[in-house]
Amino acid sequence: MLKIKDLHASIEDKEILKGINLEVKAGEVHAIMGPNGSGKSTLANVIAGREEYEMTGGSIELENEEISELDPEERAHKGVFLSFQYPIEIPGVSVTNFMKTAINETRKAQGKEEMKAGDMLKLIREKSEMLEIDRKFLSRSLNEGFSGGEKKRNEIFQMAMLDPKLSILDETDSGLDIDALRIVANGVNKLRSKDNATIVITHYQRLLDYIVPDFVHVLYKGRIVKSGGKELALELEERGYDWIKEEVEA
Ligand code: ADP
Ligand code: MG
Ligand code: MG
Repeated sequence: MLKIKDLHASIEDKEILKGINLEVKAGEVHAIMGPNGSGKSTLANVIAGREEYEMTGGSIELENEEISELDPEERAHKGVFLSFQYPIEIPGVSVTNFMKTAINETRKAQGKEEMKAGDMLKLIREKSEMLEIDRKFLSRSLNEGFSGGEKKRNEIFQMAMLDPKLSILDETDSGLDIDALRIVANGVNKLRSKDNATIVITHYQRLLDYIVPDFVHVLYKGRIVKSGGKELALELEERGYDWIKEEVEA
């Protein structure tokens, strides 16, 4: 699904990512952990193609196609979804109407016709029932006055509707309470399939009590310095990051 080779990236001429190698296969969930400032959000943003981040070397392939020259919208249309850490408020536009527009814009970019209104309603019903989202929520203005949990619910709803191939959830700085954690985790678990892949970025081991990852990677100073299975997250919970820093320095 995703193959990243020797990825280097800078922000304002400062090199942040210093040679990342990562392969994520369809059906897998990977967790990326690491101390604050290690480059986790940068990695997410570079994969999604955000312009503030300059990719200075390496390659990013989605289903064997190089995507690093594409703009964020084009990557999204190919099935890359990045959760928003700071969702925008759009007064007067409901959660549902925003979603209808997003779906039809995506279809247009993919050369498909607009979805029929009946099919759209069916899809909305199916996904909202699966995620236990009630109708009242769907008619509210996008992100206006949303609690942390509601923002997460909306994000997971967007993910369910768009049905991305690769989802990247950057949860690091969003101050998730336990409700929000459960919403994200239940959503990811329900949407998980053999045809999609998920990268969960977090420095809270707690999230991984609910989402069981297939692989855990530790990012430190712009490199993946350790990879393992779900037990690595438990070890980090117990021992923190100091032992990894020491291993790297040694
Ligand atoms: P993490 O998500 O692991 O906490 P980030 O990717 O946010 O790490 O940050 C990695 C490094 O890049 C940090 O040193 C941070 O200060 C720097 N950085 C991140 N965003 C910006 C930005 N917009 N401008 C300048 N420096 C940034
Ligand atoms: Mg940070
Ligand atoms: Mg971050």
